[in-house]
This record gives sequence, structure tokens and C-alpha cells, in this order.
Amino acid sequence: MKTLKLAIVAPCYNEEDMLPLSAPRLIDLMESLKADGRIAHDSFLLFVNDGSRDRTWQIIEELHQKNPMCHGLDLSRNVGHQNAIMAGMQTAVEGSDRADGVITIDVDLQDPLECIPQMIDDYYKGFDVVYGVRSSRESDSFLKRFTAESFYKLQATLGLKTIYNHADFRFMTRRVVLELEKYEERNLYLRGIIPMIGFPSTTVNEVRAEREAGTTKYTLRKMLRLAFDGITSFSITPIYFILGLGASFILIALCIAIYVTVSLLKGSVVPGWSSLMLSIWLVGGIIMISVGLVGLYVGKVYIETKHRPRYHINRRLG
Ligand code: UDP
Ligand code: MG
Repeated sequence: MKTLKLAIVAPCYNEEDMLPLSAPRLIDLMESLKADGRIAHDSFLLFVNDGSRDRTWQIIEELHQKNPMCHGLDLSRNVGHQNAIMAGMQTAVEGSDRADGVITIDVDLQDPLECIPQMIDDYYKGFDVVYGVRSSRESDSFLKRFTAESFYKLQATLGLKTIYNHADFRFMTRRVVLELEKYEERNLYLRGIIPMIGFPSTTVNEVRAEREAGTTKYTLRKMLRLAFDGITSFSITPIYFILGLGASFILIALCIAIYVTVSLLKGSVVPGWSSLMLSIWLVGGIIMISVGLVGLYVGKVYIETKHRPRYHINRRLG
């Protein structure tokens, strides 16, 4: 088998604190993999600058000057983690670079580099996709762990096939990236799409480490967005839930109708104000939630029909 030409893709958003620490480690890893003969000598690192407002791009430029193995991709603005990864992967397998495989890893290196040699060994065994799976999240805060794990469980209940506790640390061969490009959706949720592509795949277990420098770039807002995208892009179960809710309300209304008729026949006068107010608010609320939820899907259709580009490349190094 031909030696693998590997590209390691790392998305960076305001990572001036973390990048100077993680870049040397990634470079060392690449050197040792090359020395082992595990990967080809023209393998490279690709740092994707996702519209950072700090010195991230300057740092990437310095890295490139010092070591031509470090490539850089500068996006024109912040497009988010998922789109930044996509930009990096597409660039790495296309054009003159034509990497045979890519590994995506967050630049904070919370996913351990030690798993990478194993991912490469799995490639030589014939796997096209190797998922990094977080077997321990002890270093994460309780809130992060709880929200992340409940989210993975919720997805499973909603019928979405994802790899439990897998984030975006994975190996993919060139052909999988090319297949991935056929998915034209703009609400990218890679963890949901990649299992749909198929091809032989396996997992490596990892222990998630703590972020060493800088702070998390996933604000609560970004996390919620990703969660919503993950569900609404793949499942229409929430719509069925609303149907069920509507049906039970009709049932309740039927019971109330019987009650009203009976009291009317009995001749007892019902003051009615409180029950009326209650129903107005309740029904109004339900309708609003329903409309909002339908709106979520309509919103998606709206975005998808535009077929807008996912990102724009400003500059390219290497
Ligand atoms: N990131 C990005 N664009 C964004 C937000 C984050 O490229 O809009 C990158 C960030 O630089 C990091 C990775 O995505 O390499 C994951 O972010 P982070 O480590 O902050 O998330 P967490 O591990 O806390 O979920
Ligand atoms: Mg992180």
C-alpha cells in the first residue's frame, strides 16, 4: 500500500493563546510519523483561521515561514467550527495538495494526539473513517459533561445515528471527503452526516484532556445552535410530537365539552372567567410553540434553497 499523505486540519478561532503551544506538538508528531515511515514526507498541517479577531493569523504566518510543513487557510470571516473544518478538509484533498487522508482536531488539543498513530494504523487496515470517541470526560466541567451527554442521548432517542461521545476528532480518507461534498446542506452537522456516508469505519478510544490555554470558543449560544442544527437537520420527530400534543388537547377539549353540556342541562351557572382565561393562555401558548417549531423547519428550507457558499477563502499559505 502506498504511504499515506496525511493532512492534519485544525480550526482556530481566536486561539492566540493556544496555537503557540499546540503547533510545536503537532509538528513533533508529524516529524515522528514521517520518521516512522507511517506517513509520506509531503504530509502537512493545515491551520484554518476562522475569522479570528486576535493575532491567530499572524501566528499561522510565522509558523509557515519557520516550517513549510505548516499550511494556513484564512477564511474571510467567522463561519463557525463545522464550516471551518469543512473548508480545511476540502482544501486539503483538492488541487495540488491532494492529501490521501485528513485528520481533524481542535487546536486546543483536548483530544489526545496519542490516538493519531492508531488512526493511521487503522487506515492501513482498510478503514476509511476512524472516529475518536471520548471515553472519559472527567476534565470537562459538570455542566459541559451533562449537557453534552444528554444531547447525545436525546439524539439517539430522536433516531439520529451518531457515534456516542464522538465530536469532530476523526480520520477520513480522501474519497470520504469527496463524498461528503455531495451533501449540499448549509446547516452542517458533520457528526450526523458522516455516519450516513458509510464506508468501513472504526473508533479509537481517547481520554479528553483539559484545555491548557485560552478559553472555550463555544459560547452557550454556539452550543445551542449546534444542538438545534443537529436535531432539526436530521429528524422530523419534533413535528410528530406536536401532532401528538395537538391530539391530546382535542381529547381534553372533548371532556370539557361534555362537562359544559352536563352543567348546562343541570341549569347551574358557571362563572367561567378563570377557566376561560386559563384556556386562552394555554391554547395560545401551544399554538405559538407549534408555529415556532414549524418555523424552524421553514427557516431551514429557506436557507438551503439559497445554496449559498459555506465559506470564502481570503488567503492561502503553502
Ligand atoms: N472554533 C472555530 N470557530 C468558531 C468556534 C470555535 O473554528 O466559531 C474552533 C476553536 O478554535 C477550536 C474548536 O473549534 O479549535 C473547538 O472549540 P472549543 O475548544 O472552544 O470548544 P469546546 O471544546 O469547548 O467544545
Ligand atoms: Mg475544546
